[in-house]
Amino acid sequence: LRVLGIESSCDETGIALVECAPAGEPQGVPRLLAHALHSQIEMHQAYGGVVPELASRDHIRRVVPLLRETLAASGLGLEAIDVVAYTRGPGLAGALLVGAGMGCALGLALDRPVLGVHHLEGHLLSPFLSADPPEFPFVALLVSGGHTQLMRVDGVGRYELLGETIDDAAGEAFDKTAKMLGLGYPGGPALSRLAEQGDPAAHALPRPLMKTDNLDFSFAGLKTAVWTRMQRLEAEHGQPIAADGMARPRADLAASTQAAIVDVLLNKSLSALRRTGLKRLVVAGGVGANRRLREQLDEACRRRGVRVHYPELHLCTDNGAMIALAGAMRLQSGQAVAERHYAFDVRPRWDLSAL
Ligand code: ATP
Ligand code: MG
Ligand code: FE
Repeated sequence: LRVLGIESSCDETGIALVECAPAGEPQGVPRLLAHALHSQIEMHQAYGGVVPELASRDHIRRVVPLLRETLAASGLGLEAIDVVAYTRGPGLAGALLVGAGMGCALGLALDRPVLGVHHLEGHLLSPFLSADPPEFPFVALLVSGGHTQLMRVDGVGRYELLGETIDDAAGEAFDKTAKMLGLGYPGGPALSRLAEQGDPAAHALPRPLMKTDNLDFSFAGLKTAVWTRMQRLEAEHGQPIAADGMARPRADLAASTQAAIVDVLLNKSLSALRRTGLKRLVVAGGVGANRRLREQLDEACRRRGVRVHYPELHLCTDNGAMIALAGAMRLQSGQAVAERHYAFDVRPRWDLSAL
């Protein structure tokens, strides 16, 4: 069974083709045949964030060329597609409509069934495409630009929310701090690069909710604390934080911020493992690409006999492969049926645990 995946929920257009055993047959992990991706980051950079209208229009420009690229790379033709999976939500409504429209048009034209996929389920299952795929059950730490959640995962479609952020997401905390420090958008990767040159102990920043007796997160207060430190540094040195002469204080502040975020993510993940008694952790979402987070989780989990699984680095942020994969795994497990029903709708807000 070959499943085409289409992702267009935010500022990446992704198309991918995976192959898997049909429902009822022995189920290996689906295999990625080919994928193609276009990121709009450069286009949105001038505005300091994603402009929804521009995002939708760019998805429209990219979907067909990316589909052609994917098929060419796989050496297959359109008729080789058995099912079309598209991201149904959550995300930007106009952006989602492009992928959903494309997916349903393809399904109708080829007379193939279609399936709407939850974007976060895509992130969550993306480590199954890595060289070292996980096994159920596991604790999942989902850390993306819009979400920060801990889940107990017992199988495809069996997701129990253990805790989540009550305000900003971890990726948002990275991005907002990066913006303050003049590192552009989305600043997560830039902030973590800068942090490599700084001292993580330079500033004792708060670790919000870290010691509370639940698995919730909060990052809004951290942002305010960084802002206050930044004001103080600028006053002390008489220069804006982004100035050339401020390289050292800037790197120290970046390193301290990253250390605070990672510390909270690490501690809450360990609590979730303790509470559930599970010995397997899966990390997914863009922040899962963060080097310090990976190093600290690897070290802490090794000492506790816990196995950690990550997506391949290039599949941490949005892509079509994870959507094709999630569609394929839902079909394989009997959790979903693809339908010849092309009156699509999208769900800009959509709770994963309600799936
Ligand atoms: P969601 O999936 O919740 O709708 P999203 O799709 O925008 O949000 P992702 O694509 O999973 O999120 O991840 C993007 C986020 O990951 C951004 O906030 C980005 O700054 C962050 N990010 C990417 N790489 C790194 C890194 N190396 N260190 C820290 N943050 C990173
Ligand atoms: Mg993105
Ligand atoms: Fe995402």
